[in-house]
Amino acid sequence: MKNLEKPFYEIVRELANLSDFVVALGNCAVYGNIPALKDEKIVELQFRFKEKEGLLGKDFRSKRGLPVVNISGCPAHPEWFINTLLELKHRGKVPLDELGRPKEFYAYFTHDGCIRVQYYEWKVEAEELGTKEGCLFYKFGCRGPLTHSSCNRILWNGVSSKTRSGQPCFGCTEFDFPRENLFETKLNMGIPAELPPEVSLRAYIMMAGVAKTFTPKRLKRKLIDEDNEEAPNET
Ligand code: SF4
Repeated sequence: MKNLEKPFYEIVRELANLSDFVVALGNCAVYGNIPALKDEKIVELQFRFKEKEGLLGKDFRSKRGLPVVNISGCPAHPEWFINTLLELKHRGKVPLDELGRPKEFYAYFTHDGCIRVQYYEWKVEAEELGTKEGCLFYKFGCRGPLTHSSCNRILWNGVSSKTRSGQPCFGCTEFDFPRENLFETKLNMGIPAELPPEVSLRAYIMMAGVAKTFTPKRLKRKLIDEDNEEAPNET
């Protein structure tokens, strides 16, 4: 009962200092995100957005020598969480990126493993949400090439992901989630305002020109053409 008289943040600090490992789960616990957007006093365990200005301090290390291990996402993928816990239990360490996220899951982009990558490369836009064809980067705001996650490598419920179901990636594992107009690509003179990391505007324009000129015709057709489906035999 004594502990309940203390402010919650003090209890968290005390427990963190006694813990072998400290793991933050979900974007609000990792970066502050939606609550922090409303109130500048809100910080998370080690970060506030991408700055190391969290409750435990930038130099915090748990008893086993790691900073806060951050499993970001809104929501975070349960397999990334469980596998990180197992790795900590059995190996006592996990390689982390600069935002404290396990590289095993966050060194990749959502784009890696997306079944629409051919459409991306040949600059074939999706015409509508929820369809099988086209890439959602050019019109519908997909953040797949800019977002660190394993959503298309380790599928949700083992079967799907946002982009597989025809919805754009919202970038929910990053510190700047959520953004406005999640279903829209911001364009600058017809070119996406944000390009994938290390892709220059010049390179993008050159590649886009070549890709659009030589797009294979098959990528412009429906994958499943229901109009040409044979009717079942009537008995
Ligand atoms: S839909 Fe998104 S994740 Fe998939 S290929 Fe296009 S940009 Fe990449």
